[in-house]
Amino acid sequence: MKFSQFVYKRPDLTQIQSQFKEQVEQLERANSAEKAKECVEKINRIREDFSTAHAICMIRFCMNTKDEFYKKEKDYFDSASPVMDGLVNDYYRALVDSKFKDELENVYGKQLFSIANLAIKTFKPEILEDLIQENKLSTQYAELVSSAQIQFNGKKLTIPQLRAFALSADRTVRKQASEALYSFFSSNEEKSDEIYDRLVKLRTKIAHKLGYDSFVQLGYDRLTRSDYNPQMVKNLRQAIKEHLVPVVTKLRDKQAEQLGVGKLKYYDLSVILREGNPRPMGNEDEIVLRAKKMYEEMSNETAEFFNFMLENELLDLKSRDGKYPGGFCNFVVNYKSPFIFANFNGTEHDVEVLTHEAGHAFQVYRSRHFDILEYHWPTLEACEIHSMSMEFFAWPWMEYFYGEKAQKAQLVHLWGALNFIPYGVCVDEFQHYVYETPNATPKERRKLWREIEKTYMPEIDYDGNKFLENGGRWHQQGHIFEDPFYYIDYVLAQICAFQFWIRSLTDKENAFRDYVNLCDTGGSLPFTKLLNVAKLSSPFEERTIKFVTEHVFNWINSHA
Ligand code: ZN
Repeated sequence: MKFSQFVYKRPDLTQIQSQFKEQVEQLERANSAEKAKECVEKINRIREDFSTAHAICMIRFCMNTKDEFYKKEKDYFDSASPVMDGLVNDYYRALVDSKFKDELENVYGKQLFSIANLAIKTFKPEILEDLIQENKLSTQYAELVSSAQIQFNGKKLTIPQLRAFALSADRTVRKQASEALYSFFSSNEEKSDEIYDRLVKLRTKIAHKLGYDSFVQLGYDRLTRSDYNPQMVKNLRQAIKEHLVPVVTKLRDKQAEQLGVGKLKYYDLSVILREGNPRPMGNEDEIVLRAKKMYEEMSNETAEFFNFMLENELLDLKSRDGKYPGGFCNFVVNYKSPFIFANFNGTEHDVEVLTHEAGHAFQVYRSRHFDILEYHWPTLEACEIHSMSMEFFAWPWMEYFYGEKAQKAQLVHLWGALNFIPYGVCVDEFQHYVYETPNATPKERRKLWREIEKTYMPEIDYDGNKFLENGGRWHQQGHIFEDPFYYIDYVLAQICAFQFWIRSLTDKENAFRDYVNLCDTGGSLPFTKLLNVAKLSSPFEERTIKFVTEHVFNWINSHA
């Protein structure tokens, strides 16, 4: 069925509550494993209906944030989702307390119980109102950025449209575009600071109500990080500082040389080649057709997947006024359909979307066979392995998109991926600080951000831009507002994707087999166990960081 034909119906919360409660009570009273299993299945069907409506609503709202109907529906879900989370929490309690826990664990696996235990820790009915408030504040930030209409060269542009100019080969243009972008954030500085400050204090209050010392561990638990902790992440940042940051800094000189500029300014950092980063050939429809050809040739599995996406119109790629900026992949469970959402802007970003978001979509498509919702997606850092690795598995087909500039596109991709890591680590360290000292003022936060930047990106030169000099860059990073602690995930995953890339250079077939196995495993295992399935070394080991940095550096050095 095509996405436009998917039926949206607002879930009746009162009815759901009574049905749900009845099943939970029956689960508590079940006198056989069979009966308990039956309750679990019924509960999951209710959750699937809710999740289906929620996904359709979110996708349609993001397609047009000015649509009054879905705007209202989204507001409804902002309030209803925490209620649903509360119900799910009751279910989790009944599950872990069940007399038939062992039998159920045999059927569904340990991971469900690990997820359930962490969810129980992160919720109490007393925080329900706070969670609703948290959603509302996040939505305020989302509306602020999606409503942006920034004057540039006599035109009003959305943020994604403006970002295309910020990658221009013409230094003056990219400078002006970057200045325009940050002047938008600068003129909203107070507003962003205020939203964030309220979020930080609210999250801290929630953490205290749940019995945590600070929001840090709660943030980890919310992300279902059952097999690593803040200390391990701190060590990872340290290993990156020691082994990767100096390499990136060294390559920056080479980048400056290539660009023919004496010293890189902040608006140069994302441009690798003097002639500008290669842009894909053809218009949006042609790019999609080439992606189709690529996935058909890559493997039977990817061919089946991508044709399913096209036939059912499960992609919305073009940027337009009122559309939510950014890209994501969602899953509409009752239709067993992934959905890819993006804002094409004519840059290499468009090819990234068709490889990155398609990686996410491919995984959830391969995991659609699980009949418990928890296993459709793994934890987020593992999800990013699927997407970022797909970007690398697509390398042999880059000629389809870039013609003779294919190798240059690969260079830009790999180099960009390496350059990203210090920034990713900044975002992570910043958030640890923020939630460890929730009473810091917005000004103190910005000051600290600037200090952390200097640690991991010592070469950055803001060319006198006051807003950036004063530590405002993170205001454009939605994750910091909307998804606390979800950012190091990109770093963890990139280290893993680099490993798939290294293996694919010499043993493409087996590397891809392991990748498909990883996708098929979905969320049925925690992160470090998934690494074993995929035959990847842990990013928490210092030697892994050393190993991938060396390989990536050598390739860039010999191709640049
Ligand atoms: Zn992603």
